[in-house]
Amino acid sequence: MSQVFLDSENSHKSFELPGAKPHYNPDRPGQVEHIFLDLALDIPNQSYQGTCTIRLNPVRDGIDRLTLDAVNLQIESVQVGETKQSFDYDGELLHIQLEPTTKVGEAIEVAIAYSVNKPQRGIYFIAPDKHYPDKPVQVWTQGEDEDSRFWFPCFDYPGQLATSEIRVRVPRQLMAISNGELVKTEADGDDKIYHWHQKQVHPTYLMTLAVGDFAELQDEWNGKPVTYYVEKGKEQEARISMGKTPRMIEFFSEKYGYAYPYPKYAQVCVDDFIFGGMENTSTTLLTDRCLLDERAALDNRGTESLVAHELAHQWFGDLVVIKHWSHAWLKEGMASYSEIMWTDYEYGAEDAAYYRLNEARNYLDEDSSRYRRPIVTHVYREAIELYDRHLYEKGACVYHMIRAELGDDLFWKAVATFVNDNAHKTVETVDLLRAIEKASGRNLLFLFDQYVYRGGHPDYKVAYSWDNDSNLAKVTVTQTQAKEGNGSQSELFDLKVPIGFGYVGDEAEGKNASKLKTFSVRIHEKEQAFYFPLEKKPDFVSFDVGNHILKTVVLEYPLPELKVQLKADPDPLSRIVAAEMLAKKGGLEAVNALNDALKQEPFWGVRFELAKNLATIKLDQALEGLTAGLKDADARVRRATVEALSTIKTRESYKALKPIAEEGDASYYVEAAAIRGLGSIVTGSLGSSKEEKVLKLLKSVLRERQGWNEVVRSGAIGALSQMKTSEEALNLILEYTAPGTPQALRLAAIRALGAVSSGQTNSSLERILDRLQELSRETFFLTQVSVVIALGQMETARAIGILQALADQTPDGRVRRIAEEAVQRVQKNVGSDKAVKQLREELDQLKQANQELRSRLENLEAKAK
Ligand SMILES: [Zn+2]
Repeated sequence: MSQVFLDSENSHKSFELPGAKPHYNPDRPGQVEHIFLDLALDIPNQSYQGTCTIRLNPVRDGIDRLTLDAVNLQIESVQVGETKQSFDYDGELLHIQLEPTTKVGEAIEVAIAYSVNKPQRGIYFIAPDKHYPDKPVQVWTQGEDEDSRFWFPCFDYPGQLATSEIRVRVPRQLMAISNGELVKTEADGDDKIYHWHQKQVHPTYLMTLAVGDFAELQDEWNGKPVTYYVEKGKEQEARISMGKTPRMIEFFSEKYGYAYPYPKYAQVCVDDFIFGGMENTSTTLLTDRCLLDERAALDNRGTESLVAHELAHQWFGDLVVIKHWSHAWLKEGMASYSEIMWTDYEYGAEDAAYYRLNEARNYLDEDSSRYRRPIVTHVYREAIELYDRHLYEKGACVYHMIRAELGDDLFWKAVATFVNDNAHKTVETVDLLRAIEKASGRNLLFLFDQYVYRGGHPDYKVAYSWDNDSNLAKVTVTQTQAKEGNGSQSELFDLKVPIGFGYVGDEAEGKNASKLKTFSVRIHEKEQAFYFPLEKKPDFVSFDVGNHILKTVVLEYPLPELKVQLKADPDPLSRIVAAEMLAKKGGLEAVNALNDALKQEPFWGVRFELAKNLATIKLDQALEGLTAGLKDADARVRRATVEALSTIKTRESYKALKPIAEEGDASYYVEAAAIRGLGSIVTGSLGSSKEEKVLKLLKSVLRERQGWNEVVRSGAIGALSQMKTSEEALNLILEYTAPGTPQALRLAAIRALGAVSSGQTNSSLERILDRLQELSRETFFLTQVSVVIALGQMETARAIGILQALADQTPDGRVRRIAEEAVQRVQKNVGSDKAVKQLREELDQLKQANQELRSRLENLEAKAK
């Protein structure tokens, strides 16, 4: 599954919320062999009725009772064979009294006739309404994690695998898509019956149904159909967005050592989907928001990654199934790691390394600002809470560390062993360890102990100095995450880390001519000093060569070594660390080094980081260098530059961004960032005449520049949200929260209510809260998320009440969780002292004034040298 990830900003808290408890799979009455759903949809009434037949091979004699998960269904009758069974149903569990009782070796067929009316989970009916008359008619399902029970009765946990069949009656003009092969279609009056059969076993959460008036685009891989289903009129976007699928199937089949296992691969893009994508067996559902037009495809790699992610699950998750949610990292970590693998294959090693860095950062951010937890844990309130950045991104980094530990050949051998030994079976984390041991002889329990079974990662501080007399390099490494005193031992990591001493080669041959002399050292204590005898002084020092270890690092190196590293280290991630450390040092020499690198660095990812880091140095010279980034050939670097300039609130940055905001850019994202940036710059010291000009521009953007997925107009909303004291800005934002506004723009406007609230008058604040309260009653997942994000930024007690009510009422575990976290945050905001805030603002102004003086001083000093 691919999440819609949500903002997080919080101090270190426990993952386990009140009410969290251990979760175990239930006892098994036997093996479910086959599930057959025979359904007739009544789409106008958002209901359906039918029969769910489960063939069960009992594990023992004499079972007289079956308990199935079944939420908010109307159960009409239960039969085994021809015999009616008595049952008891409380709206959540269906208890069936078996008569006669079971006999080993004699499978029984339990047929449950049921109906469903206006379901809230599991199956979703999408239809036009008075606000959105153009919305398509669609029906789709979402089972993961425990929502299949909302659309059919089942043993709803991943430890049970069965074959499945879905026969469904739909209006003739619609198409029904499901797992496996299409057995037959049959017209019947105004209806059409689709009959699908999934012949390989899979868990209930991967059973799916998608119904709509779709365009069907055909591709193929090795004779198997690869199909894209999209709303009619989106055919071109479908090719742009999913057209690499056959090549990806080829790539993953080879990498995992197991040919794509299903008779077809379908991707169905559906409206109002509540995840990014869902890897239902052989039939992935994707959000239609992922469909790119040609301009969006210029610098949006997200869709390609999403397609790779869900495809990777066809092996990791669908073919090899997790036995329990607590082991979901096995599939989510590998699906996320497969995004990196695909990036490597398609765009090269530097892109892949940079992708991996950003995955690590996402995890590190969650770890520092939200909570820390072991990747594998069965203590939670709802399984969906596990689907966080520990599961996905940290999981991906762990797979990468396994690869670094084993080397490429043995890693892929281990992966192939894991997949082949466990195909069509369920697995737990220990099964991966076993496959690794079988394929390589290596026992990686030490790595799993440190990164999977407990939380955290090492935070290294590395100091370097050179002793010229004895030709000795001294490197001191401190593990700063381990606090002094009791228990620090358990926070220490014990890892072998390669340290490289770099010598610059022939300038003309560039970074790859640099030579590294590398030593591996064991780092396991709180602080360790290492001495390395070298023939001559190194030009730079590379800590953790290859940057395979998931960690944070602070380098205490002299300025000259950092400058050379930024230029000459062959690893882009090491160059990025050098850039960060130079920015931290600040000063004109560092700025010049960063400016030069921005012009010369060949890899876009490093240039992206250079732009970001330059903006953190409060010197005018940084701004001069940054403007070079606006001309960068890579749209992503231009975007980073625009965002960097947006944080510098001066006349010069205003002048730099204004033409981009007015005239646009080849990239939607760059254009949107420039528009958004003007909003924050104009709130600086530029005066109210500029503010009026910007407002005028924003209004014209909102009128005229719809663009793809509302990216550009959402930029204008973002700009308005920065104009916190303007009532006019607020009024405009409120206007776009009205129903009927295109959804992506409306969600941006709802979220913007949070940021814009902080400078508004009391009566305006009440209007914002009234609006959010109204919106909080809407049931769509993304609307609820946007309401929570807005309220979570507010500083008023009334926000707490709305959030709490939302947390109590929402049917979505993700909304419940973030709403409760937002309550805690607002409580803290309300408690914090206004006077402290005012002081902070005054300090910011002083810093700004100081910047100008320091910039002049640096220039004078430079001239004096
Ligand atoms: Zn996933």
